[in-house]
Amino acid sequence: MKPHFTRRDLMKVLSAAGFGTLISSTVRADAPTGAAAAGPAPAAAGASAPAAGSATFCGQVIAPTVPPHAPAALVGGQVVQPQRTLPVLHQADVLVVGGGSAGVMAAIAARRAGAKTAIIERYGYFGGLWTGGMVLLVIGTHVKDGAGKKKVVRGLGDELLERLKKIDGAIINQDPGAHNPTADPEATKFIMDEMVREAGVDVFFHCWGADAVMDGKTIRGVVFESKAGRQAILAKVVVDATGDGDIFAAAGAEYVQRTYAIGTVHRHGNMDRIEKGKAPAGTKLPPLGGVTPLPSLTWVNTRGPKENGLDVAALSRLEMDHRRDIWNRLRQIKQTPGYESIFIADTAPQLGVRITRVLVGTCTLTYQEMRAGKKFPDVVAVGGAQGANHAGWPIPYGVLVPKEIDNLLTAGRSVSADEKLLDDTRLIAACLTTGHAAGAAAAVAAQSGCRPRDVDIAKVQELLTEQGAYLG
Ligand SMILES: Cc1cc2nc3c(=O)[nH]c(=O)nc-3n(C[C@H](O)[C@H](O)[C@H](O)COP(=O)(O)OP(=O)(O)OC[C@H]3O[C@@H](n4cnc5c(N)ncnc54)[C@H](O)[C@@H]3O)c2cc1C
Repeated sequence: MKPHFTRRDLMKVLSAAGFGTLISSTVRADAPTGAAAAGPAPAAAGASAPAAGSATFCGQVIAPTVPPHAPAALVGGQVVQPQRTLPVLHQADVLVVGGGSAGVMAAIAARRAGAKTAIIERYGYFGGLWTGGMVLLVIGTHVKDGAGKKKVVRGLGDELLERLKKIDGAIINQDPGAHNPTADPEATKFIMDEMVREAGVDVFFHCWGADAVMDGKTIRGVVFESKAGRQAILAKVVVDATGDGDIFAAAGAEYVQRTYAIGTVHRHGNMDRIEKGKAPAGTKLPPLGGVTPLPSLTWVNTRGPKENGLDVAALSRLEMDHRRDIWNRLRQIKQTPGYESIFIADTAPQLGVRITRVLVGTCTLTYQEMRAGKKFPDVVAVGGAQGANHAGWPIPYGVLVPKEIDNLLTAGRSVSADEKLLDDTRLIAACLTTGHAAGAAAAVAAQSGCRPRDVDIAKVQELLTEQGAYLG
């Protein structure tokens, strides 16, 4: 005889009594959200039940999404991919590849300027390292200005930060002061979605940009992989905002590839339950992390070893090594009296790859030029300073433009800069502004029917100023 009357027994009895449909529509925990997705605000998720009369969530049989094609073959010990014609999923004036801080700004800028704009992103959300990498601290929004501070992230980047401010628990330390703003990753993803949608950008998530579509030295589009197989999107101008220069490398642009410190950011929970007084005097603890907008959570930045961020074997090892380190450190923290309740809220789904490929642009900005505040006639953004401890530095358009490849720009952490300056050009604030600049330039070039290298820079500057950007 069974000791308990189980849930399964209950289902059997109720379904025998004709209540099967009622049960499946009311007790399932995995009900999908339906209509809520269309609403403008974070509405309560409307849990939709299966259609009346349907006892399961299973849909109908549909035609295969991936068309049949000749697969790769093993020929003489080598893997050979046969030639094939790819479906063109979409056409745009401006195609942005990569939806991190730079890519999102680029797409919104181009679309608001009237260019038909599409963005592809390998994951299912925007923000890149800022959100998926959980790098929450936005450094470089301000610079030193006499005795005070001046904001250099204006226009689209500032609009994003201001919109975060309107959501409870989404951002702290945003006002110019001693600190830099720290944002919540989920709120940032949400506001990015909203801004991209409002602008009317065509979004393609879960698409991995895999190759460039070339016509000699001119890029005409991008080949990408997804669950629907290998497809292409064609565009007049492509902005490579992958951070790793995946597209400019495929297109044959000149670049420098570097190793860099690779870490995994994670968040600690229950930080507001620490009882510091219980720990013995002189206790040394591993880093507990910096503040976030949620008082119970901190985010822990890590540097990690210098490795090649494009080597999947290294990336895989680092993912596991870092998680092991994080758990070892947690054990040490929890063994300390007063710190027992701390837990790992999450480890970042995106590994913290800081720098890989850096474009060799028509201009390479140097650290010396930055510190000297060198002026450029083709300025398209102004860089900020860690802790607003020095003046702003003009960023010339040439850092976005490949030397030889046409119809292509880059933005974000892969812009053309010397080694020492990379620690400034890769900051989120600078990525927001170079992304904005690339999107504006791409739109002007596409609309004028010219190559981005020949674009009327005065027009780009005018558009950026209209969109609120600060050019010094
Ligand atoms: C551990 C760590 C700590 C840091 N700390 C700070 C800090 O405290 N403050 C600060 O300001 N900055 C910090 N940074 C730097 C900053 O976070 C990044 O440089 C910045 O967010 C990069 O923005 P991005 O848009 O250029 O690139 P990313 O954020 O990398 O965005 C690239 C986007 O492209 C997508 N993508 C990549 N390849 C493809 C492809 N082939 N096809 C389709 N999509 C693709 C990615 O998924 C991603 O969404 C830190 C970085 C790291 C790694």
